[in-house]
Amino acid sequence: MKMSYRPKITSVTKASSNDKVGLYEFIIKTADGTQCRAFYSRNPEWKMTNISRLLKTPCPVCRKDFICKCMEAYTADFEDQMIGDQWIEKAIAE
Ligand SMILES: [Zn+2]
Repeated sequence: MKMSYRPKITSVTKASSNDKVGLYEFIIKTADGTQCRAFYSRNPEWKMTNISRLLKTPCPVCRKDFICKCMEAYTADFEDQMIGDQWIEKAIAE
């Protein structure tokens, strides 16, 4: 089944980081009100290693209000925007 959901990032904040080893944790908010926690490794290049939905609102895909793994299917969409729209650059500059 092809999902029509497309996440649209509206803000990204850095939640934690270990600059020495290049590990970062970001909180991503999307246009539909979903919030996700994403972990990144920056070496040798920025790579999302994990993404999960924060349990503040029901999942926009499966509508569950508890843990699900739907967001993992959109890793590529999130990654494209995180790099292409300079969300990471902006978040780590703050
Ligand atoms: Zn879900």
